[in-house]
Amino acid sequence: MEPENHYWHNLSAEKTAEVLEVDIDKGLSEKKVTLRQRKFGPNSLPEKKPLSQIQIFLEQFRSILIYILIVSGIITLILKEWTDMVVIFFAVILSTVVGYIQENKASNALRELKKVLKVKAICIRDGKEKQVLQKDLVPGDIIILKAGDKVPADGRIIKSSNLRINEAPLTGEWLTAAKHSRFLRKEIPIADRENMVYMGTIVEQGEGKVIVTGTGLNTEIGRVALLIRETREEKTPYQKKLSYFSGIVGILIIFVCFFIFLEGLIKGRGFIEMFTTAVAVAVASIPEGLPVAMTVILALGMQRILKKKGLVRKLSAAETLGSTSIICTDKTLTLTQGKMEVSQVKSQNKTSCMKIAVLCNEAFIENPESPRKSWKIIGRPTDKALLVFGEKMGLSKLKLEKKLPKIDEIPFNSQNKFIATLRQDKKENLLFVSGAPEKIINLSSKILEKNKERIINKTKSLKLKQELEKLTGQGLRVIAVAYGKTKETKLKKKNISNLTFVGLIGLKDPLRKDTKKAVGICIKAGMKPIIVTGDHLLTALAVAKELGLDVKEENVIQGKDLDKLSYREFQKRINQIYVYARVEPRHKLRIIQAWQNKKEVVAMTGDGINDAPALKKADIGIAFGSGTDVAEEVSDLVLLNDNFSVIVAAVEEGRSILNNIRKVITYLLSDTFTEIILVGVSIMAGFPLPITAVQILWVNLIEDGFPSIALAFEPKEKGLMNQKP
Ligand code: ADP
Ligand code: MG
Repeated sequence: MEPENHYWHNLSAEKTAEVLEVDIDKGLSEKKVTLRQRKFGPNSLPEKKPLSQIQIFLEQFRSILIYILIVSGIITLILKEWTDMVVIFFAVILSTVVGYIQENKASNALRELKKVLKVKAICIRDGKEKQVLQKDLVPGDIIILKAGDKVPADGRIIKSSNLRINEAPLTGEWLTAAKHSRFLRKEIPIADRENMVYMGTIVEQGEGKVIVTGTGLNTEIGRVALLIRETREEKTPYQKKLSYFSGIVGILIIFVCFFIFLEGLIKGRGFIEMFTTAVAVAVASIPEGLPVAMTVILALGMQRILKKKGLVRKLSAAETLGSTSIICTDKTLTLTQGKMEVSQVKSQNKTSCMKIAVLCNEAFIENPESPRKSWKIIGRPTDKALLVFGEKMGLSKLKLEKKLPKIDEIPFNSQNKFIATLRQDKKENLLFVSGAPEKIINLSSKILEKNKERIINKTKSLKLKQELEKLTGQGLRVIAVAYGKTKETKLKKKNISNLTFVGLIGLKDPLRKDTKKAVGICIKAGMKPIIVTGDHLLTALAVAKELGLDVKEENVIQGKDLDKLSYREFQKRINQIYVYARVEPRHKLRIIQAWQNKKEVVAMTGDGINDAPALKKADIGIAFGSGTDVAEEVSDLVLLNDNFSVIVAAVEEGRSILNNIRKVITYLLSDTFTEIILVGVSIMAGFPLPITAVQILWVNLIEDGFPSIALAFEPKEKGLMNQKP
C-alpha cells in the first residue's frame, strides 16, 4: 500500500478504499492500524523548533542597554578605570544571566500549556464508531466529520450531507467550499478538489464520511509546514506592546541622562566622571527587566489556572481575566453536572416517542458488546441521556438504524434548536424531528394519540402548553419529538412542517455542588453572573432560584423579546436582567456589545460553531473542553471540565496577576526616578555627586534584579475576591 502516488480526487470512493485496503463500512481493523502507525508515524506536524539554550542566552545581549554597557565598558578599559570596568562587565553578565533564567522559566511554562490541548477525532474501526486522538489516525482510517470539527487529516469524501468546509487555513479563501463525494478530473487544482478534505481546515456545516489519504507531513498543510519549519517563534502582541513601552521609557531616560551629562560638563566636572555617572543612571533606570518579568508573571499565572482546570490560551488573557466584571454563562454543563437523565416521558405512545429520540441522536456507544455498566458513550449530554434511556427500554440505536437506514440529517445546533433525520422505510421516507418544544409544536399540525393521528385543535394545543409548563417549572430540560412522511430524499429545513407531534421528554440535570458557592464568591467580588441559555424560560428560572439568585419578572428575558427591544431600551434595562432564556447565538453578541458599551469587561461562554463570533467579541471568550474545536480555537480560556467555578477561580488568579504586575512596574519605575532625581538635582544644585557610578550600578543589580524575580513569583494575596473588579 503506497498512498503517496495517487490522485485521490480522480479515483472513485470505492477505488480509494481498495487502494488503501480498507472496508468502507467497517473501517480498518485495530491490527492494521497498529501496523500502519508503525509505518507512517504519528499524524502530527513538527512543532516549531524552540530556541536552544544558547540562543536564549545570546538573545539577552540583543538590547540597547547591554550595548551601552559594553561600549562604556570598553571606554573605561581604554581609560584604564579598572574598578568601573569590572563593575560594568559584571553588570553585563549578571543582567544577561537573570534575563536568561526568567525567559527560560517563561517559555517552559508556555510549552507545558501547549501540551494540554489534544485534538480528538471520530473514526470507524472494526465496524464500530470510536473516538481517538488525532495523532493516532493512519491512512485508510474512515473518519466522521461534523460541523465545528477541525479536519484531522487529508481525506477523500465517501459520503456527505450539506458539507461545507472553510479552507482558509490552507488556501486563504474565506468563502466556504461545498463538498461532495463525486469523481473529479485529474487536472483540478487543490483549492477546487471538492471531493477532498484537508487537515487543519474547518467544517462549517453538515456532515461527512471520509477515508484518510494522508497523515502528518504527507498532508497538504504538512508540506507547507515543512517549508516554514525553521521560522522563529514570534513574540505575542502583548510582549510586543511591552517591549515598545519600555523602549519609549528607555529613550526618554537616555535623553535625561544626556542632559545630566551635558549639565555636569557645563558645571565643570570631569568628562569621565560625568560619562560613567550618566551611563550608570541610564542603566539603572531603564526598566529592561519589565517585559521579561511580565511574561514570567503571566506564564506562571497561566500555570496556576491550569492546575484548577482552566487553560488560558493567550498570554494577554491571563491579565484581562483579572478585570472581568460580567460573567455570562451557559446553564447546561457549566452550572449543572451535565449528567442528564430522562425523568419523565409524556406521551400516549411512549415507545414511538423514545424511538424518535434515539434515532434523532448524535451520540453513540463505542463498545456496545460490553455490559451496560462499562459502556463508553460519546456525545452531548442530552443525546447520551436519551440514548441510554432508550436502550433501557430495549430500543437499540444500532438495530433501529438497520431497520430504518439514514438518508440525510440536519444536525442539532443552538440556532435551529432541533435535529432532524430522514429515514428510508418500506413505502415512503420517514422524517423524525427532536428539539425545543415550542419549535416542534409550531411545526406540528397533528398529534399521535394511541396510534391515531388527530388534528391539534385549541384545547389540545392548550393542554400541550400546560404540560410543558409543568415539566419546565420543575427545572427539567424538555425536548419534544415528532415525525412526518415524505417522498423527498434530501432534507431541507423549509420542508419540515405538518409534522405529527408524539410527545414530550423531561430530562433532569442537577446543579453542580460547587456552583452555588462560586456564584456567591462572584457576587461578593463585585462581578455579575448572568445566565444565558438556549433552554426554556421556566427551566432557566428554576435553576437561577436554586442558585440563590433572587429573580423577579423584570430580571428575565427571552431571546424573542430581546429582539423587540430597541438599542436604547435594552441599554436602559440591561442592569436588571440576569437570566436570558431561549437565546440564539446572535443574541449573545448583542448582550456583549451592550455591556461593553457600559465599559464593562465581559466574559462569555460558548460551545458550538455558531458561538464563535460571540467568543471572539467577548473580552474573555470561554470554551468548554467538551465543545467544538472551532469554539476552542477562538477562545481565551478553555474550561477543561466545563465547570463554572473554574471561571471564578481563574478570575481570582487573574487579579493576583494584575496585582503582581502592578507591583513590579511600580517598583522598577520608582527606582528609576529616585536615581534620576537624586543625581540630576545634585548636579544642578552644584553639590558633589551623592553616589558614584559604581554604586548606582551595584544598587541597580541587587535591588532590581532579585526583587523583581521575587515579585513575579509572589503567591496571591488573601481577600482578592472581596474587592471590586
Ligand atoms: P443550552 O446549551 O443553553 O442549554 P441549547 O441551545 O443546547 O441550550 O438547547 C436549547 C434547547 O434545544 C433545549 O432546551 C432542548 O429543548 C433542545 N435540545 C438541546 N439539545 C438537544 C438535542 N441533542 N436533541 C434535541 N433537542 C435538543
Ligand atoms: Mg447546549
